[in-house]
Amino acid sequence: MTSFPRPLLVLDLDETLWYGMEATDDADIQFSLRPHLGLFLDHVSQDFDLAVWTAASGDWMRRGLSVLHAETGFDLAGRAVFLWDRERCSWRRGEDGELRQRKPARKFRAGWLRARYPRGRILAVDDVPGNYACGYGHLVRVTSWTGEESDMELWHLAAYLRSIAQTGDFRTLEKRGWRSRMPE
Ligand SMILES: [Mg+2]
Repeated sequence: MTSFPRPLLVLDLDETLWYGMEATDDADIQFSLRPHLGLFLDHVSQDFDLAVWTAASGDWMRRGLSVLHAETGFDLAGRAVFLWDRERCSWRRGEDGELRQRKPARKFRAGWLRARYPRGRILAVDDVPGNYACGYGHLVRVTSWTGEESDMELWHLAAYLRSIAQTGDFRTLEKRGWRSRMPE
């Protein structure tokens, strides 16, 4: 074991861990869980503390997390260090004039958070890199998932994350193209 503090893994939800379909007149929200999600959470939680940051609403997040708990047995809502929804995001106008939500990494500098997790020990998993435009040093990008049943991304990601968990400062790692840097 090393003396590094236990790291924090901040998880995006939509198209990263699950795919949710809006409620209609006939049906409530339908959440499909990404393949290997239960295994992913079981494995990475051995090396990382977990948190959630989604650009979705708090209600959407809580509903999805209860489906996740029921289907995988993993209580992410109960175990997360924080559950941040769109209220914690900011709006930024892009070069094309469109307003987009951002997850400003400066929020990782909050005193209570920094006391437990130095910024170099925080990783964020997201399918939209623009979400972390101010904090690429934290980002591990995954492919967007919308229902492909043979998807293996979370399976591979669990192995990758566990392989780097003992790195002192994640920001010094080149994490782009992580799939090609997988251990044998
Ligand atoms: Mg997403």
